[in-house]
Amino acid sequence: MILIVVEHDQGALRKSAFELVGLGRSLAIASGARLAALVLSAAGDDLASELARYLDEVHLVRDARLDPPRAETVTRAVAHAAQTLGADVVLLPASRAGLAYGPRVALRLCGSLLEDVTSVTFEGDTVVATRPAYLARVSATVVAKAKPVVVSVKPGAAPIAALADTSGRVHPLAVPFAAEDLRLEPSARQAVVKGRVALEEADVVVCGGRGLGSAEAFERQVVGLADRLGAGVGATRAVVDAGWRPYVEQIGQTGKTVTPKLFLALGVSGAVQHLSGMNRSGVIVAVNKDADAPIFRVTDYGIVGDVHEVVPALAAALEGPD
Ligand SMILES: Cc1cc2nc3c(=O)[nH]c(=O)nc-3n(C[C@H](O)[C@H](O)[C@H](O)COP(=O)(O)OP(=O)(O)OC[C@H]3O[C@@H](n4cnc5c(N)ncnc54)[C@H](O)[C@@H]3O)c2cc1C
Repeated sequence: MILIVVEHDQGALRKSAFELVGLGRSLAIASGARLAALVLSAAGDDLASELARYLDEVHLVRDARLDPPRAETVTRAVAHAAQTLGADVVLLPASRAGLAYGPRVALRLCGSLLEDVTSVTFEGDTVVATRPAYLARVSATVVAKAKPVVVSVKPGAAPIAALADTSGRVHPLAVPFAAEDLRLEPSARQAVVKGRVALEEADVVVCGGRGLGSAEAFERQVVGLADRLGAGVGATRAVVDAGWRPYVEQIGQTGKTVTPKLFLALGVSGAVQHLSGMNRSGVIVAVNKDADAPIFRVTDYGIVGDVHEVVPALAAALEGPD
């Protein structure tokens, strides 16, 4: 049995949920295994009903103790569901949260962990996955030797599932949380970036580097262009270290990995540590005044020029003629 763990935010399923449904479907068809999804939420009925339009079996853990979600509570819930339902494979997103609870779930189930993978297949009865290694320069094949297998899947690694001709059933599932699952008590949460599309889910990412020159110029050029395009905002580590932007926006080896359809790099040199976080994007466009900047080795379109001239020209072109 294949169990998908879906994530959601502010009452909506995340894009990764639909990617995992697509991946789970193809694995279920290839192996003949049963496919089910797991929703963990303090409310979540709507989310579970929406998911039931994509697959036949949805399990809903509806528990106020899941809000806010903590690695401990999510670990307990996923491990309990996997054991109760007899899952051989647990698919979860390699989000920040997934990378925190995935290993704990694998340990608790005494299973294998295939982490941060870009593809998963069955070879006979064995689960085999590939994942990028050495700053995404090589692809490693990993084989799970023990079941159940917990697999965290990189955002963007699987295509989004189409709606199925089904109206699946939602099954409530109770989880016996223990005191040790609730040791951390977050007191308040504050949205860091309000109203903008999440970086990992954005189809378009506008990323700024030190070439912008200042926090103000970054806000004006990078954030301004991103808002026009409905895009996510990304930054290099140099920008984050300078205090111009928050760490949640850092892309690269020690930041986030993004795979948008379009990635715009503005004033970014293209250091290997940065490239590993964005080089799987669909179309890459860069603006840099140095024609020899390493970023141009990975770009589909390169503009050699000053960001302070090129970005306003791009913005004006997007506005269209008067
Ligand atoms: C262990 C480790 C982990 C790291 N992790 C990350 C990571 O996760 N993410 C990350 O980004 N970096 C990471 N780094 C840092 C990385 O090596 C680079 O230092 C960093 O990416 C450089 O950021 P930058 O491109 O903004 O700045 P710079 O390298 O200073 O490049 C600025 C670019 O802007 C161009 N420019 C300047 N002015 C203009 C202008 N007016 N118009 C157009 N172009 C202009 C310049 O030609 C230059 O190419 C890591 C480093 C280490 C050692």
